[in-house]
Amino acid sequence: MSISEFDLIRRFFAEATLARPDVLLGIGDDAALLCPPADKLVVVSMDTLVEGRHFLPGCDPAALGHKSLAVNLSDLAAMGAEPAWATLSLTLPEADERWLSGFIGGFAGLAASHKVQLVGGDTTRGPLSITVQAHGLVAADRALRRAAASPGELLCVSGTPGDAGLALDRLAHGAPDTEMSDYLRERLERPTPRVALGRILVGRASAAIDISDGLVADLRHICVASSVGARIELARLPVSAQVAAVCARGDWRYPLAGGDDYELLFSVAPERSEALLRDCAAAGQQVRQIGRLVDGSEITLVFPDGRVTKELPDGFDHFDR
Ligand code: ADP
Ligand code: MG
Repeated sequence: MSISEFDLIRRFFAEATLARPDVLLGIGDDAALLCPPADKLVVVSMDTLVEGRHFLPGCDPAALGHKSLAVNLSDLAAMGAEPAWATLSLTLPEADERWLSGFIGGFAGLAASHKVQLVGGDTTRGPLSITVQAHGLVAADRALRRAAASPGELLCVSGTPGDAGLALDRLAHGAPDTEMSDYLRERLERPTPRVALGRILVGRASAAIDISDGLVADLRHICVASSVGARIELARLPVSAQVAAVCARGDWRYPLAGGDDYELLFSVAPERSEALLRDCAAAGQQVRQIGRLVDGSEITLVFPDGRVTKELPDGFDHFDR
């Protein structure tokens, strides 16, 4: 590497993000010293992005910097946590300064909007791979878990699931630019973690999960953890115009199993739902009720014409393809 590891850390990482008062020692020593408030739990999440697996070679480094943090903040959001700190493990084929400055720009931009401080990491040489660990804070008995849902509750989802899956398919098949709108590309490459929504759900939603593996696959996690079934009304799914055009042909795979969406799926008791949905709307959070939790363990889909099926499209599983 033309630039030493020490210089690289100093130039690109040491002061990339704001300094939080609860960081006693950040980048520069053998480890960081963090000081969480006594009445909060620390919520920890980690995700890895591997070239060729999670993103295509040549992907915009700024988008990668954004996404590597966003996917972790999405997990914190699904727990109802407020983001605080992050660590970053980078494996790079070479110390490409243009790539590094683009990457850390994307990372730091998202970190700034959530007041996250980068407090450490590791830098090694090898095939391009990015691992981020994010740490958040939540009041001790308030974290949103998968296991607390009950039959009779309403099932709700944020945003417009299916966009990222559709964008990925179009990129992978070399779709002409006319079919690959900026909107779809942004949804795939620069997802918005629903941190503000997660904070609204704390103490009010029963169970929550982010739908990074696809709506049905992640709903199944709630169903198994909570011992409930679910019934989804496809006519209620909030989808973008692009995804709606595919659904209109009878293909519901994108919103149901597309994955990479980073929206929140949650359940709420009927008596709490009206006030909760009103508060979401007031905060500018797009949320839609898409069905209900039911007794049993099965997931049922209701088509717009009333037809019913228990045959579900699969979500994304790295070891299953
Ligand atoms: P050590 O050899 O003691 O593990 P390193 O030389 O790997 O330490 O790292 C020195 C400092 O730089 C540490 O504070 C470490 O957390 C930080 N650091 C290294 N790589 C990164 C990175 N990619 N992002 C953020 N901080 C990093
Ligand atoms: Mg050391």
